[in-house]
Amino acid sequence: MRVRFAPSPTGALHVGGARAALYNWLLARGPGEGGDGMPGTFVLRIEDTDRERSTEANVAQILDALRWLGLDWDEGPISQVANTPRHQQALAQLLADGHAYHSDATAQDVKAYKEQHGADRGFRGTPQSSGAVRLRVPGQGVTAFNDLIRGEVSFPNASMDDPVIARADGTVLYNFAVAVDDLDARITHVVRGEDHISNTPKQLLVFQALGQTPPQYAHLPLLHGPDGKKLSKRHGAASVQELRDAGYLPEAVDNYIALLGTGFAPDEEFFTLQEMAQRFRLERVSKSPAVFDEQKLRHLNGRHLRELSTEELTERLERYTGRTGLRAAVEISREKIQTLADFWPLAGFLIDGPVDDPRAFAKVIDADGGRDTLSAARDALASVQEFTVPAIEAALRTVVERTGLKPGQVFQPVRVAIAGTTISPGIFESVALLGRERTLALIDAALAK
Ligand code: GLU
Repeated sequence: MRVRFAPSPTGALHVGGARAALYNWLLARGPGEGGDGMPGTFVLRIEDTDRERSTEANVAQILDALRWLGLDWDEGPISQVANTPRHQQALAQLLADGHAYHSDATAQDVKAYKEQHGADRGFRGTPQSSGAVRLRVPGQGVTAFNDLIRGEVSFPNASMDDPVIARADGTVLYNFAVAVDDLDARITHVVRGEDHISNTPKQLLVFQALGQTPPQYAHLPLLHGPDGKKLSKRHGAASVQELRDAGYLPEAVDNYIALLGTGFAPDEEFFTLQEMAQRFRLERVSKSPAVFDEQKLRHLNGRHLRELSTEELTERLERYTGRTGLRAAVEISREKIQTLADFWPLAGFLIDGPVDDPRAFAKVIDADGGRDTLSAARDALASVQEFTVPAIEAALRTVVERTGLKPGQVFQPVRVAIAGTTISPGIFESVALLGRERTLALIDAALAK
């Protein structure tokens, strides 16, 4: 099995592109065609024929995103532009064989042709000595393929225009280049987005004209947001880099994308890349649009995050935040965060001191009895013998019993005193981590405000 991912470097790698990359990668790393156990090959081709919109920076960004997702390739990156001599040679062959012809027909001419012959009649030009190059579509029959996801797809030849495959200046067009490149790379399976389905007959006709057997095709359904509209920025992070910046783990992004539209409930299926490669089946991908729901990704991310050792999670958080010395704070926060981005708002006070949240202060400490309770909690903490989590808990619970208040009414003022706000990791753990001296100093500062 030889598969490829063929991004156009006209922008960042988006979720839809990442899905195509991942599915191809899973096929290459999986049990082989029909489970034959033969290792597959994943080819990376950069479709940089659009010289105006393709940039080196976009190529670098795409490669970076693929590496971050853990999707390594076996061949490439091949530049499509670098294959130009071969495209020219294939083009010359088709012209020589009569499978293609020069024509200077304009869009106007095509329109006039249809007015004369009927709107669903494919345009056939008259061969000339120069002009753009058109591929000759057979007059009858169908161009059909068995899509591995969608089943039989067929286009009547009579209504297909003879497609332009090269401009008058000799530069080849997209559908021609793709077919020649897939042929040369001996691609066995083309797996790509559904937006390419109308390109497939043109590419099949190129294979046919060159006298070659085409690969098999599978077109992935469109991605929608939870509101049923085509996935866009409105639905949250759209590019892989944005997902990384939003604190998602590559493991979770891979897992979530793999489950999109495969008939699994995303929150029930937890896989590593290797496990997914073993279990992934193209035929199981649904034909209907897949819904990308960032909330589900968040949830799955939390599960992947908790699979990491504290060591590993600390390393990732230190890279993500650009800070060091986070291990103890990570230890007591790890059960409470779903993304790397959740960590600092929850636990940053353990490192940088309390945040400034006047509303929390007014509501919890300045409120009725807040200061008295805080003061009682301070005394209890001051007299704890060994400053450990169980001893801290016991001391604060004594205050609860003595005052007859609810636990939260005692713990919350302490929390606001040490964190500056109403969210933190476990209160006893946070107090223990700060230590007696710092905790008492923070409480004193809050009482003095
Ligand atoms: N370059 C195309 C794109 O980025 C993909 C072409 C293909 O997979 O055949 O949409």
